[in-house]
Amino acid sequence: MTTFKSLLMFVLMFAAVNDVAFLSAEEPGYTDTPFLPNSKWRVHDQTRPQPRIIVPGKGDIGATAPSDAVVLYDGKNLDAWLQDDGKPAGDGILADGSFDIHKTGQLHTKQKFGDCQLHVEWLSPPEEANVDRMNRGNSGVLMMGVFEIQIIESNDSYIYADGNAGAVYGQHPPLVNPARKPGEWQSFNIFFTVPKFDGEKMLAPAYVTVVYNGVIVQNHAEILGTVSHRALPGKYPAQSQGPILLQEHHSAVKFRNIWVRSIAPSID
Ligand code: MG
Repeated sequence: MTTFKSLLMFVLMFAAVNDVAFLSAEEPGYTDTPFLPNSKWRVHDQTRPQPRIIVPGKGDIGATAPSDAVVLYDGKNLDAWLQDDGKPAGDGILADGSFDIHKTGQLHTKQKFGDCQLHVEWLSPPEEANVDRMNRGNSGVLMMGVFEIQIIESNDSYIYADGNAGAVYGQHPPLVNPARKPGEWQSFNIFFTVPKFDGEKMLAPAYVTVVYNGVIVQNHAEILGTVSHRALPGKYPAQSQGPILLQEHHSAVKFRNIWVRSIAPSID
């Protein structure tokens, strides 16, 4: 090997090693996005503190549907759901009775819901250990199809604070991080209050409370707008009901045991 080639190899190795070190030291997030309304934090703020990590208890995995719930998925079929183009769900039901959102395609319920309690169980795929963290185990539950409660790998990895699992994506980080390991089933219980409108005029915003693996991570949080990436939350649609949407984000996130019940009072 010539001296020149040896020197070149040394320079390339040095550059490669330093590049890796640089990437691993880089925190996820941005410093050039707009500030959230009435907040000192930017959208996906790189400096916003990460939620404290806790180990959840047993939680409510396997919570069966109460008698007044609409069962959206119980392992049998995906008849309650449609893809974005209105076609039936793709063939994604697995041998264990869960389904793979990457195989079914992005799904929304045929039925629309107003104020509701939603139970959903999901699993971050362990086989995506080498996928970049912005895409690893990425999915989400979108209330009214537009307000995202984030699903992403948040035990073995993390992204910016307002993007971790249990966040109102791009708005409110989870209060704590109770994420389980990849390959372990996790649960959301979402208590959602729809926005109120008089025609086009909004009288009250939407609110959400989220219990994640038995731990409250959103406590009656005001939803600032529709889900956005690197931009301010979008304008509310002037509606007070909508479908529940499960996001397909190129990741084989699994779902099971999904049910929803209205929390509108039965006696006024
Ligand atoms: Mg997502």
